[in-house]
Amino acid sequence: MPATLIDGKAFAARVRAKVADHVTRLREEHGLVPGLAVVLVGEDPASQVYVRSKGKQTAEAGMASFEHKLDVKTSESDLLALIAKLNADPEVHGILVQLPLPAHLDSDLVINSIDPAKDVDGFHISNVGLLGTGQKSMVPCTPLGCLMMLRDHHGSLSGMNAVVVGRSNIVGKPMAQLLLGDSCTVTIAHSRTRNLAEVCRGADILVAAVGRPEMIPGDWVKPGATVIDVGINRVEGAEGKTRLVGDVDFASCAEVAGAITPVPGGVGPMTIACLLANTVTACCRANGLTEPE
Ligand code: NDP
Repeated sequence: MPATLIDGKAFAARVRAKVADHVTRLREEHGLVPGLAVVLVGEDPASQVYVRSKGKQTAEAGMASFEHKLDVKTSESDLLALIAKLNADPEVHGILVQLPLPAHLDSDLVINSIDPAKDVDGFHISNVGLLGTGQKSMVPCTPLGCLMMLRDHHGSLSGMNAVVVGRSNIVGKPMAQLLLGDSCTVTIAHSRTRNLAEVCRGADILVAAVGRPEMIPGDWVKPGATVIDVGINRVEGAEGKTRLVGDVDFASCAEVAGAITPVPGGVGPMTIACLLANTVTACCRANGLTEPE
């Protein structure tokens, strides 16, 4: 495998250690404990795993973790009332509502009811607008993690051709905004893109956020390109067991790419690390303190 492996797991551990250091300083020098509230409605198994993992890592970083698990039938007004309470709570610096919400709840309405200053997922319409206009905002965790790994690997991204496959509000679009902010020439591809293979072959940086197992083969990758695989897909493995794969075919892409993130152990661990970092940032901003870099 000629490609360099971008080790998201190790990188995320370094980010979490920096977060923990900052949390210690906030506590010792200012008597502050950054707090993250996570709201889960219903019992979606994947969401339960994410919420558990978020709570555990929040506590390990020395921060306060507030979990609110609500019944699947919770009404919109009850959920909005909880969010209003969390918005007003000075011990809560970050609020995350685990998506997807049950179908009877309006996700946009719920997300936009979070105080933008506490919106550590960066999905509130104000934060989306701030990011799009290059202003200080809360940046969505998954694309932020991707950007951090790219900057770490390349230094400057200026002038590079970046192709983002996927245009979702939570990954593809904010990823494209961040790459544009770092002066890449950005193409956003999606299910209607013509000649996707050719588009991908033009990428110095190829970000796959599609949700289709191993869709991108090695011959879509420009030799030496950096491949960031956001996809998390569970597929049938050997002996009836399941395994996780990304949106790129790792084996063939790693033969051609200059650098590549694995699945698991690439983008995934960075997402929660960035969530913790965003919570510390929110705490610092709320208290008029210098933010971590
Ligand atoms: P969405 O389903 O919201 O978006 C998928 C995007 O891929 C859409 O824009 C869609 O295009 C595009 N697409 C679908 N099929 C094709 C195709 N054949 N060719 C080109 N484009 C296509 O997914 P998300 O953005 O939420 O997530 C993407 C992946 O990232 C998933 O595997 C998800 O599990 C993973 N993920 C990982 C995270 C992490 O922490 N590592 C966090 C969040 C997501 P169109 O808009 O035209 O339909």
